[in-house]
Amino acid sequence: TAKIIDGKAVAAGVRQECRQRVDVLKKKFGVSPGLAVIMVGEDPASAVYVRKKIQACADVGIDSRKFLFPADVEQSAVIDKITELSANPSIHGILVQLPLPKHFDVKAVLGAIDQEKDVDGFHLYNVGGLVIGDTVFPPCTPYGVMLLLDHAGVDVAGRNAVVVGASNIVGKPMALMLMQREATVSVCHAKTRDLAQFTILADILIVAAGYPNLITAPMVKSGAVVIDVGINRLANGQLVGDCDFEGVRRRASMITPVPGGVGPMTVTMLLVNTINSAERSLNAAGHQPMLGRSICAATP
Ligand code: NAD
Repeated sequence: TAKIIDGKAVAAGVRQECRQRVDVLKKKFGVSPGLAVIMVGEDPASAVYVRKKIQACADVGIDSRKFLFPADVEQSAVIDKITELSANPSIHGILVQLPLPKHFDVKAVLGAIDQEKDVDGFHLYNVGGLVIGDTVFPPCTPYGVMLLLDHAGVDVAGRNAVVVGASNIVGKPMALMLMQREATVSVCHAKTRDLAQFTILADILIVAAGYPNLITAPMVKSGAVVIDVGINRLANGQLVGDCDFEGVRRRASMITPVPGGVGPMTVTMLLVNTINSAERSLNAAGHQPMLGRSICAATP
């Protein structure tokens, strides 16, 4: 049976590094990394995510500020706030919690974020950077997956990687990061015919569809590394991923659990991106480079 990749443990280690880096910024430079979180409306799931992000900031010493707007606010008021925060030197990261209410033009809102503070990596500039393998803000969920693969010692170059799910926030950036690391990447989605004929070829199978039990044991190559990004709440309240965990773990060589796999990494990578941004602002001010390593940098 598969070795369990413990996302909680890896995330705890990365958070420890975060605390040390924040300490250096405070003691040596008198700078506290600052994150602004913008939320529009009170979607309960979003409220939970925002609370987790703010707690995570406090956990490593990042100053966070939350800006809550009513669901019927004018888009221009939100954009004005983003413009103000973009110009504020004590803010190093700005994130807009998605989804936004229907009357919003998401691209216009994300486009208002200073690209140097775009810690979610959703601004088109950073999306473009990701495509050419040169972004400073890799989107948090796939960034966390790459770190999990690295920690588990999984060699990506030359392997068959199959990504199930093609969203802008998970599947597409995931595929780009794997490509950057020289995997042979296939991307499947809801219109894919015969999903199993792709997944069975995967040495590395990343599943981010949001569909419980989508991946069953016969769809998985023996010895594959399986990363389950999905989060689904069943009618009985149980939280599960997109894989039939018990079945798949008997074929895979490694697998991430849900909860306790990718989830803890996602929030943690937001902290990493915010600290990277604060360090970059110091570099820009002429201090010695103190950049953290970049996960999506090309190998050799
Ligand atoms: P999304 O709904 O935006 O995109 C889902 C993608 O999966 C689409 O490309 C769709 O075509 C594809 N898909 C849906 N049903 C499919 C099927 N039956 N077969 C093949 N492909 C299918 O979702 P998202 O935002 O990308 O999130 C995906 C899942 O990952 C959700 O369960 C979400 O909760 C979870 N998620 C987890 C984290 C984390 O930190 N662990 C972060 C983000 C999202």
